[in-house]
Amino acid sequence: MTASTNNTHRVGVHVSISGGHDKGVRQAVGLGCEVAQVFTKNNMQWFAPPLADSAVDAYRRAREESGLSMVFGHAGYLINLAATKPENLEKSRESLLRELVRSDQLELPFLILHPGAHLGEGEEAGLRLILESLDWVFERHEGRTRIAMEVTAGQGTCLGARIEHLATLLNGCPCPERLAVCLDTCHLFAAGFDLRTRADIDRFIDGFSKLIPWDQVVCVHLNDSKGALGSRLDRHELLGEGKIGWDCFREIVNHPAFAEIPLCLETPKGKDNINDRNTLAKLKEARGEPAP
Ligand SMILES: [Zn+2]
Ligand SMILES: [Zn+2]
Repeated sequence: MTASTNNTHRVGVHVSISGGHDKGVRQAVGLGCEVAQVFTKNNMQWFAPPLADSAVDAYRRAREESGLSMVFGHAGYLINLAATKPENLEKSRESLLRELVRSDQLELPFLILHPGAHLGEGEEAGLRLILESLDWVFERHEGRTRIAMEVTAGQGTCLGARIEHLATLLNGCPCPERLAVCLDTCHLFAAGFDLRTRADIDRFIDGFSKLIPWDQVVCVHLNDSKGALGSRLDRHELLGEGKIGWDCFREIVNHPAFAEIPLCLETPKGKDNINDRNTLAKLKEARGEPAP
């Protein structure tokens, strides 16, 4: 089976890699994806060895046959580049480095990463430590996969809920060409950025672009939010069933600023991924549909 790929506003979902990355790609196609997101390894473990050649070959074959226009990665949840305990900081850096090795094996254009949590040390100190960690990683990694810093909901001491944080990282990194940005509608909304109407979305893009060039945005996660605007709650909901509402997503799949950016669901999948299937179909139908 081959993915039918639209030229713009390509949509997809995060797929499981249990059973191999090749299986993940096939599943993505079966669900109706045009793009797909994968973990490079079990996301709740620190380390995994590089992929075996046979696994890479199987993936490459599946990837070629799939017709997917892009497959990209999301890094594990344990990594905290601003960890205060030396042991955790070391593990975080090493873990990210090894994930980049796997990302290169899979030829992923970018690996999405939550910037980190300062754990009480303060925003400035946290951002400085993240920059040091990025330095550490890039000194040891020669591959091509970029790191896409994801905007966060700002839960706890998580950094990345303000565009200024992301701008500090992009501007402070000695190799900015190796960094990029991933947006997430749930995280943005929870962090206080309203996106419910076309005017809200335009206002957000305007404000963002004053700090970071829009072409640094390489991915957008489409998630509705269980939490209210500014709630700082990172709880994803099915599109149209949360506090953001369907209008936002219809606007995004018709908005020229998002035409070239892969759009990826991270919402509850339901039995046999029924929700993914249905939401992708609904998004495809909404493309080319003007606002009422
Ligand atoms: Zn994420
Ligand atoms: Zn996300």
